[in-house]
Amino acid sequence: MTNEHAAGALLAGKVVLVTGAARGLGAAIAATCVAHGAELIVTDVLEDALAETVATLGPSATGMVLDVRDAAAWDGLVEQLLAGRGRPDVLVNNAGIITSTPLADTDHEAFQRTLDVNLGGAFLGTQAYVRLHRETRCARPGSIVNISSVRGMFAGLGTGAYSASKFAIRGITKVAAVELGELGIRVNAVCPGPIATDMTVGNPQYATIDWDAYAAQIPLRRLGSATDVGQAVAWLGSDASSFITGIDLVVDGGLTALAISAPQREIG
Ligand code: NAD
Repeated sequence: MTNEHAAGALLAGKVVLVTGAARGLGAAIAATCVAHGAELIVTDVLEDALAETVATLGPSATGMVLDVRDAAAWDGLVEQLLAGRGRPDVLVNNAGIITSTPLADTDHEAFQRTLDVNLGGAFLGTQAYVRLHRETRCARPGSIVNISSVRGMFAGLGTGAYSASKFAIRGITKVAAVELGELGIRVNAVCPGPIATDMTVGNPQYATIDWDAYAAQIPLRRLGSATDVGQAVAWLGSDASSFITGIDLVVDGGLTALAISAPQREIG
């Protein structure tokens, strides 16, 4: 699909706000939503990268600098939206960081920072969205999509703080789905498997990982693409999923369908 959206595009006429959208999955989610006909508000802490992404996305995108940990910054965004286009149709809580140390060796500050960005950001984003919904007396259905991870479903080595935050995102997704259903707001989580971004393949912390060998263990025999995740998010944001709330949509090429398998040994 090109950025010229086709008739029947999933998000035609909708406004989508994505956090952490200067690069990686967030930028790809934004591009996929534009391709599905949406107008985008993209936010991040990386001002220059954000400006480049906005330029790439084209005239349907607006950029705003926003640190998802900063409650006052969310209040500022809410005020701007109240004075302008009102509540977005879709909020994608995507901004995230990873801490890759064994739990016993993770310092408290890094643990707290990971929770503040990954979980606190989604919490504050959800509150801002509900405030916008209430103060505009919005009658349109809404959709919040929280980006969790397969590491929010199963442990990985050295994923302590990260997994804690991603399990918790699935928890607040379900609570929010239950509490916001009566407002017509759906809340779902997406759990991506490994996707090649700066957080993974481009991350010096993972320089020793053999990504090809990792991909070979995944039933679909590849890492995910950022667009694989973008398509899942676009669908959850759209009216095509209008009776779906509180779920974890796993986008992992079958990774979590497979537990450890029996190793083979040479015979004879
Ligand atoms: P990335 O590092 O490429 O991008 C993360 C973005 O979030 C960056 O643009 C960064 O500036 C932004 N960000 C970080 N802290 C922020 C803050 N306080 N406020 C606002 N923005 C902030 O990583 P990615 O791979 O694109 O990850 C995006 C999301 O997808 C994260 O939540 C991550 O946990 C999740 N995820 C990624 C993978 C993967 O394999 N890449 C798998 C599962 C889940």
